[in-house]
Amino acid sequence: MKEVRADVLIVGAGPSGATLACALARAGVSFHLIDKAEQRSPFSRALVIHPRTLEILDRLGALEDLLARGNRVGAVRIHIGGKLRLEVNFSEARYEGCRFPEALFVEQNLTEAALDACLERSGFHAFFDHELIDFDEGPDGVRATCSDGVDGSYRVECRYIVGCDGAHSAVRHGADIAFSGSAYARDFMLADVDLEWNQDQHALQAFIERGGFMAFFPMREKTRLVSARGRYREESGTPSLSDFERLVDHLVPYDARISNPTWIARFHLHHRIADRFRKGRVCLAGDAAHIHSPLGGQGMNTGIQDAWNLGWKLAWALRSGDSATAHEILETYHDERYPVGRLLLQTTDRAFSFVSGTSWPAQMARMFVAPWLVPALGGISFLRRLALFRLTQLGIHYRPSALSGPDPDRRHFTRALLPGDRMPEISIGDAWLRPQLDPVRPTVLVVGMDAPAPSGRWKVIHLQDATDTTRCLLGLKGPGLFLIRPDGHLAARGVTPGTLEAAELMRLAPDGGPTSRPPRARTFPEPVHRKGGGRPSAGPGDG
Ligand SMILES: Cc1cc2nc3c(=O)[nH]c(=O)nc-3n(C[C@H](O)[C@H](O)[C@H](O)COP(=O)(O)OP(=O)(O)OC[C@H]3O[C@@H](n4cnc5c(N)ncnc54)[C@H](O)[C@@H]3O)c2cc1C
Repeated sequence: MKEVRADVLIVGAGPSGATLACALARAGVSFHLIDKAEQRSPFSRALVIHPRTLEILDRLGALEDLLARGNRVGAVRIHIGGKLRLEVNFSEARYEGCRFPEALFVEQNLTEAALDACLERSGFHAFFDHELIDFDEGPDGVRATCSDGVDGSYRVECRYIVGCDGAHSAVRHGADIAFSGSAYARDFMLADVDLEWNQDQHALQAFIERGGFMAFFPMREKTRLVSARGRYREESGTPSLSDFERLVDHLVPYDARISNPTWIARFHLHHRIADRFRKGRVCLAGDAAHIHSPLGGQGMNTGIQDAWNLGWKLAWALRSGDSATAHEILETYHDERYPVGRLLLQTTDRAFSFVSGTSWPAQMARMFVAPWLVPALGGISFLRRLALFRLTQLGIHYRPSALSGPDPDRRHFTRALLPGDRMPEISIGDAWLRPQLDPVRPTVLVVGMDAPAPSGRWKVIHLQDATDTTRCLLGLKGPGLFLIRPDGHLAARGVTPGTLEAAELMRLAPDGGPTSRPPRARTFPEPVHRKGGGRPSAGPGDG
């Protein structure tokens, strides 16, 4: 049987798997990326990309094309009972530390294509029509059996296996990890249509009333209409354009005409989360780890961020001298991402149940409570900002993580930025900080003081004169040092290099420090079923 050797087997080349592959390529880790689909789907499930994910795509070099092809959306307008009750503009959150403060609405297939292009630029691509059949985990690695659709089975010898293989994950089943949760009682339906109305095409609009809801997600050309099964729709089967027309007539208080649907679909949704995101040499990311209602447009975003969190940790685990350290590093993946997934499930679940519930209390809540409660809560600026930080995912932090702190020099700083927080974007001379962060090593940002001696253990970036805005964003009272993780979160801050050297992150950094190196050039033969350009990740017969 043919054999492939790679450090990591990534199962599933959707947004989560493709992001992980890009991150591993940047870290110089060898991987084999497979997907059982013959080719990418032309239909787009996800279309909302939130600011935190835009930052990641930017660091991968996958954003420029998407910005040109997507629609920037900077406001949410909620109508209840035919009246506009709440309007929230993203600019209200005052994201001084973010270069992309609006959401981008762009089709998932374009996001996947941008990630494919990024992978190709690194010299790799996914193997489509390759399926994971099963795998065994041993003390030193994982042995998997895959099938390539034509030549039959081949074996993959790897150190870690990552399930990015969606809701029905074969990796999750193989590792015997429970997927706790249940199905929603009501189905979710969508239609991508041409829309004629006189409303702002840069705002997401939602219309809620006793009998149900409808949301309008404006893309560059089409508009996606989203609703749940309600009293204006057949109880079963695929919805038709006239189902949506009836809903528009009933729910929307503006003149609106829809036509030319390119996709109408109905989804039976679940809300579930894996009990463990990592078990031994198995990790799960994206829909394989958590699924929920797509109402807030969070699923793909969360999967991309899982992969971003995991990529550098796998690189460290592979380079660490002993298995105990590798275990500690990878355990932080579960510790940091599981709570994010769980909170997401709770919030999307509540939102979906509120807008789509058919029970008597749910209908009464929509009819009598929501019309005054939503504007009342929405009038509290603190709550508006909190909701925006949740929605955009900029507020996600890892403060309780073992990798955050300790923080013995805290009296030299304000509480604006704490260990575990996402680093705000700041300018360093003519450039931005984020693109300069090392993809594998920690980066030390030195502000207003002498830089620590150069070290292979970290990259150093120097900022002599910080503006008042930058000082405020960083929480600086005087000079300071910031130890930044490869994924752009703050690990520790201090006023002497010794404080950073004593940080938990540096204890786990591989001996001599991990070094970032370019992806290795490969000379593999072309795979039989190559669908795109670029070199394969690691191909059958390349053991
Ligand atoms: C209608 C709808 C709208 C949505 N809108 C949004 C939105 O606006 N924003 C947002 O963030 N999210 C949204 N989502 C959710 C989003 O689509 C998913 O969260 C996202 O696709 C998950 O990406 P993934 O890579 O984890 O999994 P997937 O995209 O499901 O990819 C998994 C891949 O694994 C492959 N695979 C499966 N089993 C195997 C195997 N045994 N061997 C090899 N390959 C395998 C599959 O072929 C597939 O390509 C929406 C979802 C739906 C249904």
